[in-house]
This record gives sequence, C-alpha cells and structure tokens, in this order.
Amino acid sequence: MTVTKSDMKDLKNYINGKWVASSGSEMMEVPNPATGERLARVPISNKKDLDDAVKVANEAFQTWKNVPVPKRARVMYKFHYLLNEHHEELAKLIVQENGKAFKEAYGEIQRGIECVEFAAGAPTHLMGETLSNIAEDIDSEMFRYPLGVVGGITPFNFPMMVPLWMFPLAIVCGNTFVLKPSERTPILANRIGELLTEAGIPDGVFNIVHGAHDVVNGLLEHPDIKAISFVGSQPVAKYVYEQAATNGKRVQALSGAKNHHIVMPDADMEKAVQNIISSTFGSAGQRCMACSAVVVVGDNDKFVEELRKKADELTIGNGLDEEVLLTPVIRESHRQKVLGYIEKGIEEGADLIRDGRREMSVMKEGNFLGPTIFDHVTPEMTIAKEEIFAPVLSLLRADDLDGGLEYIRKSRFGNGATLYSQDAASVRKFREEADAGMLGINIGVPATMAFFPFSGWKDSFYGDLHVNGKDGINFYTRKKMITSRY
Ligand code: NAD
Repeated sequence: MTVTKSDMKDLKNYINGKWVASSGSEMMEVPNPATGERLARVPISNKKDLDDAVKVANEAFQTWKNVPVPKRARVMYKFHYLLNEHHEELAKLIVQENGKAFKEAYGEIQRGIECVEFAAGAPTHLMGETLSNIAEDIDSEMFRYPLGVVGGITPFNFPMMVPLWMFPLAIVCGNTFVLKPSERTPILANRIGELLTEAGIPDGVFNIVHGAHDVVNGLLEHPDIKAISFVGSQPVAKYVYEQAATNGKRVQALSGAKNHHIVMPDADMEKAVQNIISSTFGSAGQRCMACSAVVVVGDNDKFVEELRKKADELTIGNGLDEEVLLTPVIRESHRQKVLGYIEKGIEEGADLIRDGRREMSVMKEGNFLGPTIFDHVTPEMTIAKEEIFAPVLSLLRADDLDGGLEYIRKSRFGNGATLYSQDAASVRKFREEADAGMLGINIGVPATMAFFPFSGWKDSFYGDLHVNGKDGINFYTRKKMITSRY
C-alpha cells in the first residue's frame, strides 16, 4: 500500500485516512529546541475540523466494532513491524522536535513498541468471564464491548510513547480514535499516522486533529466522544477530568509530578549518584518520572558533594550528539519560567550549590539550562512543592527513613518515588508506606511497562482506571452480563 506523505512544512490533520488542511488559518511554528531551526508549522485547528473528525470516526466505529478481534489485532502486528523498521528515523524526529537525547528518544520508541505488543494480544485480553450454575440451571456470562469514539490528548515530553499508551489498545478493543497531539511536538504524530496507514488501518478508525484549547474543549464537549485519555500538566488534567466527567464521559487524566528519591546511609552511593543524575537531568528533567527531589538521610555531605561533582561533568548539547546527556528545555518561555523558580529558591533561603544558569552564557543557541542543584530545601519552599519540569534538583535533609516518608506524604503529587538502600526492613517499610503509585528500589526511573498500569496517585492522576495493562482494557471496554436459564 502506498503511504500518503503528510506535508512536513505545513502539517495537516489526518481525517478519514486523508491528510487535510485545517479549515481555519491559524498556524503555529514548531522550532527545534536545540537550534531554533523552524521545522514545520502546525495548524491550530477549530471546532469544525474536530467535528469532521468525530463524524467520520463515529461512522467508522459502526463497522470497526464488528471486525473480528484477531483481525483488529493483526493491524498491530504490521504496525509493530513498521515501528521496528523505522525505529532510528522515528527517534531522530523526536530529537528534532522535542530536543531530548537520541538514546532517550530511541528508548521512548521502544516503550511505545511494547504498548503495541501488548495491544496485539487483544484476543486474550478481551476474553470475558463465565460461571455456570450460579443458581439451579442458571449460567452467567460477561462479554466486553467497545465504547465508541475515544479522544486522546497528549503532552510534548513523550510524543511517541504517550499516544501509544492510548490508541493501540483503544483501537484493538473496537473503538475508533481522535488524537490531539501536543502542538509543541506534532511532527512525529503525523509520521505515526503514515505508518498506521501503511499497516492497513481502515479509514476513519484513527484520526489526528492538531491544535490547542479549542480542539481539547471540542473533544470534552462532543456527545459522540465516549471517553477521554489525557496526559499533561496538573491544572489542565484537573480541568479535563472535571469537564469530561460533567459531560458524562469516562476519563483518565494523568497529571504532573514531584518524585522523591530517598538515599539511605547504607545505599550503594556510586550507583545512587549515577541513577539520580540520569533521572534528574536526562531529557532535561522533562519526564513525569524524573527525580526532582532527593531526601538525603543522615549526615551525608560526601554524597551531596559527589552529586555536585557529577553534575559538573555532564555533557550538554544537541541530542543528536551521542555524548550528550543534558539537552534543552522545550521552549524559551519554559526556560524563563524555570529561571523564575531558581530566583524563588534563592529568595526563600535554599542553598544554590550548582547554578545551571552559568551554561546559558556559553550556549547561545537553543533553550539550554545547565544542571541546577539546591541544598537544604525545606518542604514549604516553592521549589519543593511545585513541579518545575526542568534540570533543577532540590535536596532535602532527614534524620531517618520516617523523615523521608513524611516528605513524600506531604507532597500533593504521588507519581513515583525511589529508595536507595540495601536493607530489607527499610525496603519493606518504604514499599508499605510511601504515598505514591510507582515505586523504585535502587531504580532511577521506575516507569512501568505496558502490561502493568501506569499508576500515579494523589494529584498526579484524576480518574479510576489508569493507562496500560488490564486497567487499559477495562477503560476502553464496557461489560455486558448475560444470565441464562436452560
Ligand atoms: P500541558 O498540560 O501543557 O499540555 C498537555 C495537553 O493539553 C496538550 O495537548 C495541550 O495542547 C493541552 N492543553 C494545554 N493547556 C490547555 C488548556 N488550558 N486547555 C485545554 N487544553 C490544554 O502539558 P505539557 O507541558 O505538554 O506536558 C508536560 C506535563 O505533562 C508535565 O506536567 C508532566 O508531568 C505531565 N506528564 C505526566 C505524565 C504522567 O504519566 N503522569 C506523563 C507525561 C507527562
């Protein structure tokens, strides 16, 4: 099958298997965060564009829901093959539009591929349940059915993995899909559309409408959208959750984070430093599972000094350079916001032991910020409470594990947390008491794989069923019960 190439200069929407220009005229530039080079223009689509997409998705649903499950899954086999074949090319696209290092982008594609692998198991995942003889001569059966048209709204920081948390599973469950990718990283989404076309997805089953608030609000209000999967910042996640629920939709809204890593005195210090450096500064700290607060337990200045030294040694630059770990933040406006947080940290009395602003005078092009570390941060400081989403780390001090757990409890967020320790009793206590959904034991980024739920707690998640795993299957299906007397 021939692939219809989308126009990489002025991006188009993907509706009913065709690349179509937005009916409006508003466009936004997509620059490379490392160089400022203009990569493309993305349409800021309007309600009409969205309505067109939902209309065709709803029509396609009437047929797609009846396509046998193994046949739906087979589209994912082909898609999986194509993603592997284009792995490197896709990773380079991510580096260009998002700025992250090639190795990180390559890993992101791999995590996305794993979602497709999980989705390809649809015939097993979609099996129902039966129980004969629930009463005399009476049997009960449960069947799963799709919901209809599902809307997906995604962030800039994982332009590949996050959409793939959503549509492969939604589609194999028999739903059709409208994706609204981040307007800051829209290019890869179109490449996904091209590869899905090549994989044989029928027209209208998967659609892309680029844009911003208007498209999001359109999805939240449209009566034919039955469920919303959202990933993004906390205020928007809460808004999406409330609006979608008010309009009677099923919703899962994954939100911001402040992930604490507790370093116990018995930890393997070298490994702890390594893990914390790559978790904090990899992808410029723009990961929802990035470490952004370290709790140093006991009097461990040696560890702090080692961390600062390693931060000094980091290579900063364009993600296409293999040596580079620290890459730019997504936009200059975001860098300005982060600089405001650094000022606030100083003003509120934290010790700035590594000032990343100094790299800014050297790296004139791109939105670079060097590794920044504050010591003696206290939980009431702004930099301890808010998600900064940048290469900025807060070090808090505690006398023991209980003190560290208390910081985690106090945080409004609960996406992830990690403990560095070799002591079984500390590990068990941490597992039982840490108030977050995804825990790591001596692991820098404890993100779950596609067959488990991605499981944030507190203000890091609004909803009930998480993305991926059995939660994902339950989210994208509704159950029908049959009770029969023979
Ligand atoms: P964002 O909230 O700015 O944007 C996310 C999506 O919402 C985009 O598609 C955007 O167009 C849309 N949007 C933004 N503002 C809106 C508004 N006012 N009304 C309607 N729609 C709006 O998030 P981002 O900056 O692209 O992504 C980073 C955020 O995502 C961070 O907070 C990060 O922690 C979070 N995130 C969370 C997870 C998780 O699993 N919990 C995963 C990845 C990213």
